[in-house]
Amino acid sequence: MSEGVYGEQATGRVTHGLLRLSTAMRSQAWEWAEGAGLTPTQGEILVLLMQRKGPMRLGEIARETALTAATTSDAVSTLEGKGLVEKRRALDDGRALAVRLTARGRTAAKKALQWPDFLSKAVGTLREEEQASLYRSLLKTIRQLETQQQIPAHRMCLSCSHLEVSKNPKKVPHHCALLQIDMADTDLRLDCSVYEEGDLTQQKKVWKIFAQIA
Ligand code: SF4
Repeated sequence: MSEGVYGEQATGRVTHGLLRLSTAMRSQAWEWAEGAGLTPTQGEILVLLMQRKGPMRLGEIARETALTAATTSDAVSTLEGKGLVEKRRALDDGRALAVRLTARGRTAAKKALQWPDFLSKAVGTLREEEQASLYRSLLKTIRQLETQQQIPAHRMCLSCSHLEVSKNPKKVPHHCALLQIDMADTDLRLDCSVYEEGDLTQQKKVWKIFAQIA
């Protein structure tokens, strides 16, 4: 790909860099998945089910992975055929089906968690402050994409009703009023099991403050 194809400004350079990372991620995900006899999508579903620690409806899985209903259904059926997930009646609605991991599925999900290690190692070579700055930038970019409805909403601290955001986290940490813990920027969660969505006014206030943090 020729240099500057995404533009010569910072936006184009950053976009180009992110696309190169996504190429590396796709290639590593396929390499891992082929070794495990799965596809990256199936691996992603296994990890999602492990993170959620409980059964999920097909619709929820589709929403969280940004897959179509048909692709989700196919992937789950394949995983079921391999004995990695099972479908049961949902506890809160006997007409609906919920998907959960089997014991073998949990083992496969733990292995699937390891394929991004190559990326963790590269990030680990950055200085602590560089990692914090990168994470803040990623959170802001994710938020922007959520607002534009281009990725699913995350159960993240920055839109949670329990977050007390700090204007200067280097001096005064953020605070989770539910878990009673102080948090640096890099402690802010992207997917929290006890998340509760804040109202729009609170979310706007938090994002306004967080957007100012460099
Ligand atoms: S409940 Fe979870 S998402 Fe909400 S502020 Fe606390 S740690 Fe963050």
